[in-house]
Amino acid sequence: MLHIGKHLPKGFFLFCSITAIGILPSARLFPAPVALANLNYSNPDIKTLREEVKYNLKASKTKSDRNPLTPLKFYTYKVTKDDNFFTIMAKTSMDMDTLTSINKLSSPYDIYTGQKLLIPNMRGIYHDTSQETKQELARLYRISPDKIIYDKMNSSWFIPGGRLQGKEKMFFYGHAFAYPLDDFRVTSRYGKRSDPFTNKQTFHGGVDLAAPKGSPIFASADGVIEFVGKRGGYGNLIIIKHELGYETRYGHMNQFATTLQAGKLTKGTRVKKGEKIGEVGMTGRATGNHLHFEVRRFSKVEKPVLR
Ligand SMILES: [Zn+2]
Repeated sequence: MLHIGKHLPKGFFLFCSITAIGILPSARLFPAPVALANLNYSNPDIKTLREEVKYNLKASKTKSDRNPLTPLKFYTYKVTKDDNFFTIMAKTSMDMDTLTSINKLSSPYDIYTGQKLLIPNMRGIYHDTSQETKQELARLYRISPDKIIYDKMNSSWFIPGGRLQGKEKMFFYGHAFAYPLDDFRVTSRYGKRSDPFTNKQTFHGGVDLAAPKGSPIFASADGVIEFVGKRGGYGNLIIIKHELGYETRYGHMNQFATTLQAGKLTKGTRVKKGEKIGEVGMTGRATGNHLHFEVRRFSKVEKPVLR
């Protein structure tokens, strides 16, 4: 069992395809976000937002300059207990790609009461500035470079009409990661809980899967070993790097696996989804034999979505 960090939303930036091309006015000023009090259709702000999104969607599909996009503007909305991802998406005229990308969500379940969501007045996605240059992005999204907006606040490119790639959607819906154990009992979920050692309310950054000592642990997805060794409360830990900024962590291992192909697992070893990487134990900060399994994206913990 291990308690890490604080829950923060993650990003969906990489490789995307574009379905619509937009013409943007030259102004690059972002007005302060408008707070949406609720998502009722009678709310004038919701009305304006929906109209803007609708207009920009149409404008982005028009190749001529006659219908330029309106300047990029953001609304904010505080999630209530009655909301879910799909109702928020429908009521704000967003699509999955825009909502997840702008708010760096890891899955449709990555929504919680009190969370403040950003809602732009046009559909599109963010793209990490560290990955590609503007010129490369323009080619990737088949869009003119001057239509790509730089969002200073988030240090990201905003690509109007940009869509997530199939692979990102696969991660988003949890088809990418498999359960790392064959047989287990979930003894602690992701999120707030009482610490079994101190009884204090803490944040659990992964899931605890109990299984007998020596049960095989499998790589949750294809990747490259980033770390093998002892690390604090994790005890014997393996970290695997995956595509799109993801990594998985396997803690409290009894021992690490030796494979026929690679021999001893070390940093840089390629592993396949389902390949044995170690055995369940209770090294580090653990009260019983279990695997602490964690998913991170761009170094931030997120709720594991497993299949
Ligand atoms: Zn744990």
